[in-house]
Amino acid sequence: MDFMRKEIEELIGKKLYRELREIETPQGKRVVVEGRELLNFSSNDYLGLAKEFDCECLEKWGTGSGASRLVCGNFKVHRELERRLAELKKTEECLLFSTGYMANLGVISTLAGKGDLILSDRLNHASIIDGIRLSKAEKVIYPHRDWQFVKDYLKKNRKEFNRCLIVTDSVFSMDGDIAPLNELFQIKDEFDAVLVIDDAHATGVVGWSSLELFNVEPDKRTVIVGTLGKALGTFGAFVCGSKVLREYLINKCRSFIFTTALPPFIACQTLKNIEKVPERRKRLIKLINFFKKLSGIESSSAIFPYIVGDEEKALKLSEILLKKGFLVPAIRPPTVKESRLRITVTSEHSEEEVEKLWREIKGG
Ligand SMILES: *Cc1c(COP(=O)(O)O)cnc(C)c1O
Repeated sequence: MDFMRKEIEELIGKKLYRELREIETPQGKRVVVEGRELLNFSSNDYLGLAKEFDCECLEKWGTGSGASRLVCGNFKVHRELERRLAELKKTEECLLFSTGYMANLGVISTLAGKGDLILSDRLNHASIIDGIRLSKAEKVIYPHRDWQFVKDYLKKNRKEFNRCLIVTDSVFSMDGDIAPLNELFQIKDEFDAVLVIDDAHATGVVGWSSLELFNVEPDKRTVIVGTLGKALGTFGAFVCGSKVLREYLINKCRSFIFTTALPPFIACQTLKNIEKVPERRKRLIKLINFFKKLSGIESSSAIFPYIVGDEEKALKLSEILLKKGFLVPAIRPPTVKESRLRITVTSEHSEEEVEKLWREIKGG
């Protein structure tokens, strides 16, 4: 087993070693680490909902789900949340998954296989990449946000494949920018393809759905994956789409079938959190606009990349900020190509706090 120590030493040498940090308080804009209170600019809890709870949900449902959905782990409240999410995403149907990772893995590998084609943005989330690998379909990684590339490729090669999926994050998780959904939406129709959109960082931030930004409504060739663990403040994920898609996934999707169902109290709490989204979202949008102006960083979401480029520099800057009381982790390869600080703002931060952070970054 010596290979592990050896590879770890290599990571340390390349400044790519990762360690877990222990947080002593619930998720929120203020967290305590090693007894020190820090201002947190690193969570995906964009609306500060993660620490909210309603005892009613726990009293009614307990903590566990006890089985997979198909055995005896499918509860009334799962269906209620699915209906609510379908309504918010403007799709016919919705199916809950236990995590976003499993949703992407499952949906992509179920909808495409040998002889099919998957076009995927270069900056898509790891769970999409792994789903593509699992599918055994032919994959084409296209340059970031380059819909023209997708179109040209399909024009030339579409007829060589059976089914075709175009997969993209809507809000990109490390850059905070937005996919050209309008164009991709048209391309999928032109070339008889399915568009799979990952709304993990869009749901509850840019609206209920990223397609709202383009005044487009999902159709039967649109699949929207989303997570409950980000702006919605709980845990788990969902796939929104047509009625037949839901049926198909229930019958064919292995990461849905062979895993314990989302605990029903989490579905219950998510329904309660959803009610709080509109009011908090207003505050978030205000703060996003404030930070955009202040920093000059280009972003269409709550994610602000501060590109440093060099692994060691990024780590150093993050350490300096930590000493000053700010939690802003450095993100390095292989997660991203260029090392950076990934700053996320939430509806709970004040303009003053954001100003304080920016002053430290510029000074440091
Ligand atoms: C977080 C994330 C996922 C994974 O969701 P989990 O519920 O955390 O497993 C998938 N896609 C994107 C774009 C994400 O940011």
